[in-house]
Amino acid sequence: MPETRNKVECAHCCAVLPDGNTSPCPECGKKGRRISVSVAGEIDFAGHVTWEKRREFYERKPLALVTVIAITAGAPFLGLVLVGWVGVIAGLMLGAVAYWIGPLAITKVREIERGG
Ligand SMILES: [Zn+2]
Repeated sequence: MPETRNKVECAHCCAVLPDGNTSPCPECGKKGRRISVSVAGEIDFAGHVTWEKRREFYERKPLALVTVIAITAGAPFLGLVLVGWVGVIAGLMLGAVAYWIGPLAITKVREIERGG
């Protein structure tokens, strides 16, 4: 990320003033400031190249994944075994379990390496 720097100078005698200073210039006593904004980081004086390597992949957790698949595939069959409100409640509970396990089954891993 480029870094911006504000340089505050007196508009009359070019003395460097502290950033945020609104009082008159301590050198010449006049008011009037000149602010120059410089962006550091875009020009690399040292000549070396900055680099960034990103690697994104999905890490699978086999046990959690199998559980989620089993719940997802098995939930509709609960209606065959459990009739009425028991089946509804059991289905909701399994749905909640799948909801919590789901994010664990497949985790997005992001590796960022920087150099320069
Ligand atoms: Zn001045």
